[in-house]
Amino acid sequence: MQKGETVISNLLRRILVLGIFLAALGSGGQAMEEAPVNQQAPLETLRKLRDGNLRFAGDHASRHHQSKTWRERLTTSQHPEAIILGCADSRVPPELLFDAGFGDLFVVRVAGNTVDLNVAASIDYAYLHTGSRLVVVLGHENCGAVTAALGDYQGEVLPIQFLLKQIVPALTDLPAGDAMQRVSAGVVANVRQSVRELQQMAAKSGAVARGELIIVGAVYDLETNVVKFLDPPPGL
Ligand SMILES: [Zn+2]
Repeated sequence: MQKGETVISNLLRRILVLGIFLAALGSGGQAMEEAPVNQQAPLETLRKLRDGNLRFAGDHASRHHQSKTWRERLTTSQHPEAIILGCADSRVPPELLFDAGFGDLFVVRVAGNTVDLNVAASIDYAYLHTGSRLVVVLGHENCGAVTAALGDYQGEVLPIQFLLKQIVPALTDLPAGDAMQRVSAGVVANVRQSVRELQQMAAKSGAVARGELIIVGAVYDLETNVVKFLDPPPGL
């Protein structure tokens, strides 16, 4: 446990340094692309995601933004409305479960939806250079990574151990319960941990405090197909 916490602590320090570095890069006029202005308020984007998920869960997905004409409009630039940090699990594709199309979501997926350097840099890139002002950390019920992190994973290969150790600190104060309840609570706690880490990264800019950036957690239910937002902002 302590070893895992040390890994996280070191990782967070590096992420914070990287976040500050990239934020400085973005504000210093050295952007790799023109930063587009996203006219849509993040709360409005969040409502669109919620509504898209309800269409999907109700089996009424519009499947918009997929035509050849639409894809041709995206060949030279992208202006995704939201950034999604999701689990790599094959059952949780963000574009499908939010009924979104090409160019709508900037998606970063890694088993257990954890924040490491590459994840942080990808999210920083989307924030600084595509105009996205909503970040959703999307966990899901029955997550294999969270289940593994709750068990004995010492027999796993080192890269998997490294990944699971990033989840372990989130699981220290779970309420008592059976195995399924602990996984379910662990999924929520793990999402909240990633949200906290991203909020720490963003704190320096003040964008969250000003309402210009929303970072929110969510959990997808494999049975109902509904995404439940954790601690949603007022007005959702
Ligand atoms: Zn998962």
